[in-house]
Amino acid sequence: MESIEKEYERLRKKSNLSKSISDVDKCIQLLQNARQAIANDPSSARVSIAKLQQTVPAALEKIKDDEKEIYSGLSRYGRALDKTFKATTTYSTNDYDALSSQSDLIKRAIAMHLIREGQFAAASTFREEAGPIDIPPHLTTEFVEMYEILNAMRIHRNLGPAIAWARSKSTELDHRGSNLEFDLCRLQFVWLFLEQDGQMRAFHYARKELKQFQEKHLDEIEKLLGAFAFQTRLKSSPYAPLFADPEKCFNDVANAFTKEFCSLLGLSAESPLYIAATAGAIALPTLMKMAAIMKDKKTGWSTVNELPAEIALPPGYQFHSIFVCPVSKDQTTESNPPMMLPCGHVIAQESLQRLAKGSAVTIKCPYCPKESSLAQAIRVVI
Ligand SMILES: [Zn+2]
Repeated sequence: MESIEKEYERLRKKSNLSKSISDVDKCIQLLQNARQAIANDPSSARVSIAKLQQTVPAALEKIKDDEKEIYSGLSRYGRALDKTFKATTTYSTNDYDALSSQSDLIKRAIAMHLIREGQFAAASTFREEAGPIDIPPHLTTEFVEMYEILNAMRIHRNLGPAIAWARSKSTELDHRGSNLEFDLCRLQFVWLFLEQDGQMRAFHYARKELKQFQEKHLDEIEKLLGAFAFQTRLKSSPYAPLFADPEKCFNDVANAFTKEFCSLLGLSAESPLYIAATAGAIALPTLMKMAAIMKDKKTGWSTVNELPAEIALPPGYQFHSIFVCPVSKDQTTESNPPMMLPCGHVIAQESLQRLAKGSAVTIKCPYCPKESSLAQAIRVVI
């Protein structure tokens, strides 16, 4: 690791592009000056060009020298990386590459990730270079707005833009059962209250802004206002926890805001690319171990859509629950989905069809005495 850090530091200090860029700029300047001189006085063209013949080759030589340092720095860095992170094995249990036919989806995932991360310049360059990518045109503008609001909140501790946004979307947020607007206003109150001599401002803020939430959040508002009785010894009061960690509150509220903002755009709070890459990184050691075992035992795995080992991912990374039919013990699939009988018991479609074969009219549930017909079973989407 040390050698990587050393080479990285060298790249940053010595082998960086800044000298090269400045030398390229100087060369461009030479050419532009000559063009200007000729435009001003066409009779000076020969002299100007003769001058360029002397200066430009020297400038180009300088740029070449600059690049040498960069190339050698990069190759040293590459060697240090290779040396530290030796590839022990390549995971390949079969030749099936699920992503090879999905280059459009991959490009879209990368572009969306960059936009969602606020890397707008990188996203725009990527889209120029990768060709047409199907992304709604308004999306970048929406995320620019989201980052403006987040920066105001995180850097300047200004909750105003976030509150204005939440207010403008209050119907949709209410519909989702979100308390974002109240959470933002509550934090605004706490922030004012903790400011030097801010209690009076907090008091006016509460009267003006918190009133509208009393129907739903009266309990919490009462607790906030209770703090006024303990202004001088807030830390030892029962209300201390409400004011204990405003920095953490800012962080929590910023995360909640990001989540709601993305939800209203029909997007998940986390970038799917980030989730997929992280899940892959968590799974990789197990997959590599498995590949090594299979190589040792000279066995293979040919099931394309399943992994040969179960890989435990953290709960936040589990999106698709699985259902195993209690009759056939098969995991349900798109072509054999789970079906619910009117009694509420769920079995796989194939098991249901097998049950229906015995009787043309009724099916008896395998788990309770209730009888029903095939048409009454409904598909369960998990
Ligand atoms: Zn039943």
